[in-house]
Amino acid sequence: MKKVLIIGSGIAGLTCAIECAQRNMEVILVSPFSSERSQSVLAAGGINAVLDNCDPGDSIDCHIDDTLKGGCDIAGKSAVTGLCESAPDIIRWLTKIGTVFTNDADGNISRRAFGGQSYKRTCYCGSSTGKQIVTALVMEARRLEGIGRIKRRLWMDFHSALIRDGRCFGALFFNESDYDIEVITADSVVFATGGQNALFGKTTGSILCDGYAEGRLLMQGVKLKNLEFIQYHPTTMETSQKKMLVSEAVRGEGGRLYYEENGKRVYFMEDRYGERGNLMPRDIVSGCMAETGRDIFLDISFLGKERILDRIPEVYELCKKYRGIDISKESIPVAPSVHFFMGGIAVNNSHESNIGNLYAIGECASIYHGANRLGGNSLLAAIYGAKMAAASIERSESKAFSADFGSELEMARMELQTLKSSKSPFPVVYIRYMLAETMKETLGIVRDEASLKKGLEEVSYYLSVADKIRYDSSEFAYFGYSLSGILTLAKAVLTSALFRRESRGSHIRSDYPDTEEGFRAATIVSYDEGRIGTELDTEGAYEN
Ligand SMILES: Cc1cc2nc3c(=O)[nH]c(=O)nc-3n(C[C@H](O)[C@H](O)[C@H](O)COP(=O)(O)OP(=O)(O)OC[C@H]3O[C@@H](n4cnc5c(N)ncnc54)[C@H](O)[C@@H]3O)c2cc1C
Repeated sequence: MKKVLIIGSGIAGLTCAIECAQRNMEVILVSPFSSERSQSVLAAGGINAVLDNCDPGDSIDCHIDDTLKGGCDIAGKSAVTGLCESAPDIIRWLTKIGTVFTNDADGNISRRAFGGQSYKRTCYCGSSTGKQIVTALVMEARRLEGIGRIKRRLWMDFHSALIRDGRCFGALFFNESDYDIEVITADSVVFATGGQNALFGKTTGSILCDGYAEGRLLMQGVKLKNLEFIQYHPTTMETSQKKMLVSEAVRGEGGRLYYEENGKRVYFMEDRYGERGNLMPRDIVSGCMAETGRDIFLDISFLGKERILDRIPEVYELCKKYRGIDISKESIPVAPSVHFFMGGIAVNNSHESNIGNLYAIGECASIYHGANRLGGNSLLAAIYGAKMAAASIERSESKAFSADFGSELEMARMELQTLKSSKSPFPVVYIRYMLAETMKETLGIVRDEASLKKGLEEVSYYLSVADKIRYDSSEFAYFGYSLSGILTLAKAVLTSALFRRESRGSHIRSDYPDTEEGFRAATIVSYDEGRIGTELDTEGAYEN
């Protein structure tokens, strides 16, 4: 029986575990926290699919076109085609395993308008779509766990991959329950570790998604892709803990963006793009907001309290709870913040990386979204990619191995010991805080060569002191050993942004404002003894 190790238990990891188990594989699903604490539960607005009851004129081809156009011509066409074609089946599957979608009066799944889409095709569960999907997936995974097909392991942080001769045989983990390093070997290893939020400190997402796995894998020879494309969501609200997302569903229900000038409201998106201005793709809306240099507000009050409570109850509650704003009476002060990472581990259509037996799915993989993701396509991609990876693993050849990973285990244990006895004056949390400040300042919505070089200089300095950090026993060890991987990833992100001398999608360069034909390809990043290499994937090795 094939043994599959899946790291990360959000929507992507859970789906892959279920699919592999149903294909008679032995599955180990590993994460530090339960699925109920994954970022996936935060997903609010919905998941895209062209269903039988679609708007007149809508079609799967149109979903494909919108996705490719939203991605600014650098998402893989066949990958996106597969994604959109599978969407209706994915919604049927989700319903079958118990996801409760909001229905219309005729009993059909309701759909709402989302940014960058020509028709209403975002299926939703109130404004807690992610929570509903995770709940259904957890129930299904538990059923398979009950019959011995899935084994879930909690309190396990990824440490490093076990790679020999270009193939992956498993991974090392820091086990938080006994503070030791543990080896798990497998025929195939799937990474489903989510986005890179910790690079930027406060974002709309979970700080538990820190990008460490991507950084460490890069250092171990795995290629990354399109790291410069970082989505700033246009409508977020400042709170003490995080940037609170004001779901795109608000604009889907008719919400209008404006700023005030001489006591009058200027609806700048509608002025520039007409009726659908507020629902332009996120890169365009955020870019326009930055260009105004003003305080921006979002108004949905005209919908009336009854409809607001019916259509977007969670948004009403969030604004009331965290900012004391009654959105049925007042506008919401909003600003763009880091929300999603189009870049990640470079994978082909079967979700294989450049290392044998090593797969990546969900937000940590880069394939479907090009230079900008459309709202509602991420949950879809997480589920579709997981199914593609499971099918590919089933087809793959299972080669017996007899390697002994004792030396890797010993080295990782020694690394932990060194951290504990280090006497340097640099506490980990301080460097992580400094990193976030650097990234926010130098890699904002609009960047240029000078700011990116400054960012690189600062991150290189943090890296030079990373192995001299002071280990504080009140911080758990993961914080200590993950630092160099996170910093290496940050360096790779800045290097990619410097390399792409054009503006495309979410990557806006004030010094290169035009989109250049010569850059119509993905950026591939590699690592060689501390040096980050960048090249364009002009041959389409990772997308076709
Ligand atoms: C506020 C918000 C609202 C959103 N709304 C929508 C929406 O309406 N529609 C949509 O399509 N998308 C939406 N998104 C995006 C979408 O939710 C995510 O892209 C998607 O859920 C990612 O799923 P995932 O399984 O890849 O990762 P996650 O759900 O982030 O799961 C990652 C898993 O990896 C684990 N992990 C992380 N690091 C390590 C490590 N070092 N070792 C071991 N395990 C690790 C985590 O514990 C977790 O289990 C939203 C995002 C946010 C932040």
